[in-house]
Amino acid sequence: MKPAAFDYVRADSAEVAAALLQRYGEGARILAGGQSLMAVLNMRLAQPELLIDISRSVELAAISVEGHALRVGAAVTQAQLQAHPEVPPLLALAFPHISHFQIRNRGTVCGSIAHADPSAELPLCLVALQGTVHLRSTRGVRQLAAADFFTGLLSTARRADELVEAVSFPRPATGQSFGFAEHVRRHGDFALCAVAVVADAKGMRLAVGGLSDCPQAFELPVLADAALDDALNEIAWSLQVRDDPHTSAATRRHLLRRLARQAIQSARRQP
Ligand SMILES: Cc1cc2nc3c(=O)[nH]c(=O)nc-3n(C[C@H](O)[C@H](O)[C@H](O)COP(=O)(O)OP(=O)(O)OC[C@H]3O[C@@H](n4cnc5c(N)ncnc54)[C@H](O)[C@@H]3O)c2cc1C
Repeated sequence: MKPAAFDYVRADSAEVAAALLQRYGEGARILAGGQSLMAVLNMRLAQPELLIDISRSVELAAISVEGHALRVGAAVTQAQLQAHPEVPPLLALAFPHISHFQIRNRGTVCGSIAHADPSAELPLCLVALQGTVHLRSTRGVRQLAAADFFTGLLSTARRADELVEAVSFPRPATGQSFGFAEHVRRHGDFALCAVAVVADAKGMRLAVGGLSDCPQAFELPVLADAALDDALNEIAWSLQVRDDPHTSAATRRHLLRRLARQAIQSARRQP
């Protein structure tokens, strides 16, 4: 299928993009890497009257260290952040699992966050790291914690007139270590289950993707053996997991228990 007719405009700045979003509201869509949006348009699941292309904006293509966080602008591709010397260690572990390099060359970091696929790796990492989403509209800017940004299946707290201008990932603190594990049927597929771990001497934050409508994070003390099994089992049953055409809820719960152990062990192996 081909998309319904739309108008196209390039926005070179956040200000221009926000002004257009304010004018067109639900009738406009931001075009970043197009790796998810074009499929949605081709299937006519969305029929916007205007596409606002931010992919060539130099202003939005910046990666900068701001205080204790790395700020990633809306036009930064996944490949650019993956190759950056300050790439957060958890993201360095997750990037190779995101599809193939051709997709990462076009897909943006913020586009993945805005799209909010429940199995996507970047929303999961943002939640695990307790990152921040920076939103801009003609009314001003506001920041949302990752846990408040993702509200459900492909849905977020972003308002129709807001641009995801950037996302911030906290830089690693002394003593922190990281683990990531996921299960896919074929390399490059979306994960049936993915787990990200941020650990320190006191315990860990464990974030789970693919089991419910959006990534969920859990705080755990340092646990081992049967106590860890019990905690992971409790987490698996606390999530609203459904059977779907890809696999059963029981399989996803099993994957969570296995992958979480794997991710925790790899975090603990780090010096
Ligand atoms: C074959 C294939 C395999 C893939 N596999 C994976 C995978 O394994 N894991 C994974 O995580 N992803 C995967 N993806 C998705 C990929 O990571 C996308 O690039 C990403 O989800 C969307 O980023 P984008 O820049 O392409 O956004 P686009 O496709 O341009 O936009 C996606 C949506 O977000 C909105 N949007 C984008 N940027 C902004 C912004 N700054 N502000 C407000 N709204 C915005 C758009 O309007 C649109 O609704 C895959 C894609 C393909 C085609």
